[in-house]
Amino acid sequence: MYDTPALREQFPILQTTVQGKPLIYLDSAATSQKPREVIESMNRYYYESNANVHRGIHTLSERATQAYEGVRKKVVRFINASSVREIIYTRNTTEGINLLANTWGRATLTSKDAVLITGMEHHSNIVPWQILQQQLGFELRHVPVTDGGELDLDALPRLLDSKVKLFSFVHVSNVLGTINPVEMLVRQAHEVGALVHIDGAQSVPHMPVDVQALGCDFLSFSSHKMCGPTGFGIFWGRRELLQEMPPFFGGGDMISVVSLEQGSTWAELPHKFEAGTPSIAEAIGLGAAIDFLSELGMDNVRQHEIELTTYAMEALSEVPGIRFLGPLDPHKKGGVATFTLEGVHPHDIAATLDEQGIAIRAGHHCAQPLHERFGIPASARASFYLYNEPSEVDALVVGLRKAQALYAL
Ligand code: PLP
Repeated sequence: MYDTPALREQFPILQTTVQGKPLIYLDSAATSQKPREVIESMNRYYYESNANVHRGIHTLSERATQAYEGVRKKVVRFINASSVREIIYTRNTTEGINLLANTWGRATLTSKDAVLITGMEHHSNIVPWQILQQQLGFELRHVPVTDGGELDLDALPRLLDSKVKLFSFVHVSNVLGTINPVEMLVRQAHEVGALVHIDGAQSVPHMPVDVQALGCDFLSFSSHKMCGPTGFGIFWGRRELLQEMPPFFGGGDMISVVSLEQGSTWAELPHKFEAGTPSIAEAIGLGAAIDFLSELGMDNVRQHEIELTTYAMEALSEVPGIRFLGPLDPHKKGGVATFTLEGVHPHDIAATLDEQGIAIRAGHHCAQPLHERFGIPASARASFYLYNEPSEVDALVVGLRKAQALYAL
């Protein structure tokens, strides 16, 4: 395991204060903080190598291209992909899912087909399918969620039939923390001939993810939740599938030949899906984040979160009137504790905690259907990452009691 206090020193923002109090950042599921090396890798690029990629035959452009393209190899190793051709650069998870819907989805789906999602999806894995459904008229089904916050697997046989062409589901729920049984779900989907897309926004940053071991066909995730910069993400797909898919955005860099008379042909993978000048510094920042995470070891990151979540669930259980959403067992969930507190609105919880320098999330966390399922408009979520410590959980508990004293009595 690693030394958390020493690790925290690598995150400049964790040394700062908010509202005059030392910052306690428990909102990493929304976005993670960034270590110095990630920030400096981007600065270095701007100071020393800034140039457009792929185009220039000059030293800076070649240097920028090498750094930018080199990140693909790091991503390949990080998720155990087969080739850099499978690694598509996007802006975030949301863009990855929209890419899938608008390329594979638009080219494949008809009114006779169905797409299966689940009742615990982030809006980014609901809305792109709804938009496409309105245009193509396929059926959009979802796997219901149990009272315990897990997928209702008993419902799967009636939902997963040969009409389903894609099963797209979240690996780790951003609200419940539930870790879904990916391998088993992939096997069942493949048995009926459906492809599988995994929303890895909350899994890739927190645990080892091996696309070949999972057996999935597509995976999307965001750099900003894994110590990297905002505005950058990865869409991974099996090469033979990507090869067949039409492009997403059109423009420079994604073409082979453009002719006004004969039309255009597309560049080889992965560039077919990457139109226009990309986020170069951000790619380099993600590369530095992957180096940082790889050095720590993703098994260690996961272990740290299990230990901290175990501590948090025990400590939070002592707060009167707390009701958790999702599994209680830290081995069955990611590093989140999502709850309601009797008599205190989640926004009042968050505002009271903020006065004590504690950042948590309150609201529907871009998962309105899931909150509807549990009959509540909003919840409060504390989410942990590799830099959080038990003393921060203690401060959270004190803060919650304060909120209760202020609002509930
Ligand atoms: N999926 C899940 C499970 C998430 O938690 C999030 C973000 O919170 C997303 C998708 C969307 O990520 P982004 O906003 O980076 O596209």
